Amino acid sequence: MSVARQIEAVRATLKEGVELVAVSKTHPAEAILEAYEVGQRRFGESRPQELKAKYEALPKDILWHMIGHLQTNKVKYIAPFVALIESVDSERLCVAIEREAAKCDRVIDILLEVHVACEESKTGWDWNELQRFVVEGGFAPFAHLRVRGVMGIASNTDDEERIRHDFELLRSCFERLKPSFGASFDTLSMGMSDDYPIAIACGSTSVRVGSLIFGARDYA
Ligand SMILES: *Cc1c(COP(=O)(O)O)cnc(C)c1O
Repeated sequence: MSVARQIEAVRATLKEGVELVAVSKTHPAEAILEAYEVGQRRFGESRPQELKAKYEALPKDILWHMIGHLQTNKVKYIAPFVALIESVDSERLCVAIEREAAKCDRVIDILLEVHVACEESKTGWDWNELQRFVVEGGFAPFAHLRVRGVMGIASNTDDEERIRHDFELLRSCFERLKPSFGASFDTLSMGMSDDYPIAIACGSTSVRVGSLIFGARDYA
């Protein structure tokens, strides 16, 4: 399977204004370069050390998205260069990113990952807790964070109605938070290989597509 051909096939199905993040976790630099050669610039990774190694090995105009669960003690690996941390799911993590961003004298763009899936195991803020945190001005102290929007993962199911329900919930979280953050709050990241067309129909502005582009993986 050709990575370039798959990238172009996915692009052809995207609505105007929807960004494609090519999820390259587990895949080697050569596969990423193949996508790069056909103009792909945004790539998603889920492990900080792997992300750092790829950043060092690959062209510097790549925009790296951190999309996996991030431990506070690993923020330091990616803070100097990461373009967007999509998986911000707690106040503790915000505190850690704020500290590392300040050290690098950067403002780091983040998304708030909201938990909507039926599986308890999935990560993300509890919506009520997040809402309370925002209303209480919880983000005010974080001068080195810019909150760009919401990220979420739909339930892992074949039930399309459930998936649509999850995406609609994410969309409504996005709409309800927007007034608190203003014009730069413009990103609703939802949709993966198996469900991204539904996500786009529900208002996604950024899809994270991995296996459809790069083939199957050994781990999530
Ligand atoms: C791995 C991963 C993806 C991509 O999944 P595919 O099913 O391979 O497209 C998207 N989002 C997150 C958060 C992931 O961890």
